[in-house]
Amino acid sequence: MVGILEDRDRIFTNLYGLHDFGLEGAQRRGAWNGTADILAQTPEWICDQIKASGLRGRGGGGFSTGLKWSLMPPPSARPHYLVVNADESEPGACKDREILRNDPHLLIEGCMIASYAIRAHTGYIYIRGEYVAERARLEAAIRQAYEARLIGKDNIHGWDFDLYVTHGGGAYICGDETALMESLEGKKGQPRLKPPFPAGAGIWGAPTTINNVETIAVVGSILRRGAQWFAGFGRPNNVGVKLMAGSGHVNRPGVVEETMGVPMRTLIDAHFGGVRGGWGNLKAVMPGGVSMAMIPAEMAEEAVMDYDALRAMRSGLGTATMIVFDKEADLVAAVARIARFFKHESCGQCTPCREGTGWMWRVMERMATGEAEMAEIDLLLDVASQVEGHTICGLGDAAAWPIQGLFRHFRPEVEARIVRYRARRIQVQGASLAAA
Ligand code: SF4
Repeated sequence: MVGILEDRDRIFTNLYGLHDFGLEGAQRRGAWNGTADILAQTPEWICDQIKASGLRGRGGGGFSTGLKWSLMPPPSARPHYLVVNADESEPGACKDREILRNDPHLLIEGCMIASYAIRAHTGYIYIRGEYVAERARLEAAIRQAYEARLIGKDNIHGWDFDLYVTHGGGAYICGDETALMESLEGKKGQPRLKPPFPAGAGIWGAPTTINNVETIAVVGSILRRGAQWFAGFGRPNNVGVKLMAGSGHVNRPGVVEETMGVPMRTLIDAHFGGVRGGWGNLKAVMPGGVSMAMIPAEMAEEAVMDYDALRAMRSGLGTATMIVFDKEADLVAAVARIARFFKHESCGQCTPCREGTGWMWRVMERMATGEAEMAEIDLLLDVASQVEGHTICGLGDAAAWPIQGLFRHFRPEVEARIVRYRARRIQVQGASLAAA
């Protein structure tokens, strides 16, 4: 099934915070229901079920969750750890926040199940520092889970599991899993080189699995309802239900749960109230936060919200938190602002990112005013291609893609701006010469 999810198939039934976020409310909605039966199965069974469900990482990576879990080494003297990445810091991304503040028990239950599957007795939720209210809710829910002996030592499920919350200091780069691990260890949040991968050497050198909030929060529901239920939504290799968000020039911005593969237009019209001024007023969409290349209106008309379809359009699903631009939007100024964001968030470890993000931002600022030279467009694209894929972590790619997307689809708009600026300058010079 693709598009317009029925209420009975929703996992997040308190997405809008209309009901009790606490344990009683969560249990009434189905959380912690049958968790003991799930944990009575073997870890291998759980990994196999999650693999069969087709669940792919909801943080943007899209890696098979069951496969990631099964890559953890067999139990040994070294402890295993589960880490949940709740450092939702990309502009436009705002979906995990709704889980953290309105349905935290789904996440805590998912942590319990995932930790058992990877044989970890300790888990950490690394939450974005600015999510103060969300952290308070999450900590309150964790306290409830301890008091009810759902987690902790000697809990009713028979698998000792301690869960801790730690918060970031406001750096976007700590959303990168290896920078997150550094930060969690109390060090400066800078990405590590891979390999080794976290499953081999994660926090404190021990095997670690890192998953996004949404990925972990859906695990309990998948195992309760069955892998085939989840796999029945969407298209092959892009299955399940997913939180998606719409912001920018839509009439009703928000977060909604939908099937993978829902047409972008259906999502915008049915859930976000349509484009400001009507569909004909649409100019472009960034499908998954500011790091994904924008697509123009004619492609948005055809686009469906999944990993493979958007990659085929040379963009990406990312976190499925789209930003919509109408025809009044100044896309060049928007991309210049995005370039400034990535320049500010670069940790500075690798030269292409450290130097390239600042250089690209400065050129984009001049593109936005029209002051740039025409030849600088190709130079900018050349530099962007040298930053892309040549850095330790994905921030270099994230900085290059919005710029590449802009010029792929709207190059004539930037060129016209440069021509206009030059014509105005000649006019002003002519006028001042005449006056002299
Ligand atoms: Fe740091 Fe940028 Fe290199 Fe990532 S790509 S490690 S943010 S300098």
